[in-house]
Amino acid sequence: MKKDTQIAHAGRCPEKHYGVVNTPAYRCSTFTYKTVADMEDAHNNKYDKVYYGRFGTPTTYDLEDAVTAVGGGYRTIAVSSGLAAITGTMSALLECGDHVLVVDSVYGPTRDFCDVVLKKFGVETTYYNPVIGAGISELIKDNTKVIFCESPGSQTFEIQDIPAISKAAHEKGAVVIMDNTWGSPLNFSAFDKGVDVSIQAATKYIVGHSDALLGTITTTKELYEKLRFSISTFGYSVGSEEAYLGARGIRTIGVRLKQHEKNAMKVAKWLQSRPEVSEVLCPALPDDKGHEIWKRDFTGACGLFGVVLKPCSDEAIAKMIDGYKLFSIGLSWGGFESLVLWVKHITRTVTTVPKGSLLRFHIGLEDADDLIDDLEKGFKRLAE
Ligand SMILES: *Cc1c(COP(=O)(O)O)cnc(C)c1O
Repeated sequence: MKKDTQIAHAGRCPEKHYGVVNTPAYRCSTFTYKTVADMEDAHNNKYDKVYYGRFGTPTTYDLEDAVTAVGGGYRTIAVSSGLAAITGTMSALLECGDHVLVVDSVYGPTRDFCDVVLKKFGVETTYYNPVIGAGISELIKDNTKVIFCESPGSQTFEIQDIPAISKAAHEKGAVVIMDNTWGSPLNFSAFDKGVDVSIQAATKYIVGHSDALLGTITTTKELYEKLRFSISTFGYSVGSEEAYLGARGIRTIGVRLKQHEKNAMKVAKWLQSRPEVSEVLCPALPDDKGHEIWKRDFTGACGLFGVVLKPCSDEAIAKMIDGYKLFSIGLSWGGFESLVLWVKHITRTVTTVPKGSLLRFHIGLEDADDLIDDLEKGFKRLAE
């Protein structure tokens, strides 16, 4: 079946829930059983049948099935946030004495986890240049257990050659984890590109409405048991309301992403033509450094990209941003609404950030011409 059909049908079992279309939010810690034998059977199958709310409910299991059907892989584990998916996966696959290679343009809190928490537990992190490709082979040591990718990179949007990195990793026995939030389960088929664990900050496009935190871990058959055990032993369970919102949101991810991409491309191209802008960071633009690999590996883009401004004062930038009518100032992305973030807190180890003030835009589902009008008025404030 084609993706659009899977999105509508995967992980829904109305016949199990009185015929309701969307699996309800089962608010449940305790499940009860008719007999001791029934409960023992549930214990022995606690990641498949309902046993205790922390292990999963019909709501979380159906969400997990939907994410797997859309994004590929063996099975999915839902957790309480995107960051919990990242830290839970790394904690499951790394131990004291191990080494992990992490892309230099990784999501900031992932870097904090490596630099502070993993370090405390005796795991060494080396950051690598996002455009390293097959050259990563030289950085893989005997104790390198994990390569952690994110493509495109957070805030600076470098595209990575994931197939080349995966090949090098597997030749030396390392596992590839990818934060695939930008690509989404729809636009980057992680498992076809050699990734072993694909992570979604489902908070973004799966939930799609900026009203819930949620993460998913999709994995190969080989790693599934280990990850499921570790995640449930940490107690990283997901609330039923959040799981429900994720399962509800994913039904429209296809149409939303197409519209986010269409709007974003129109706005990004307009920004490229502006004299105030020195560079638009978006791999879907034909002249972007990562465009060739993006075209080869992705089936679409989304609403998120970066903009580097030509030199101007901080006061002028603040005046420009503060006056936007349609772009709200705020973290996160992936909702239906447009956002702007002035990226001020950014750390890199082996690469440099583009010179000039860096803004990140999330282009929502508003009319693109209205958004351009809002941005144009902003440039007038910038020039005042
Ligand atoms: C937002 C985000 C996360 C973290 O997701 P939360 O649900 O906010 O914890 C991880 N990776 C990327 C790329 C993100 O943008």
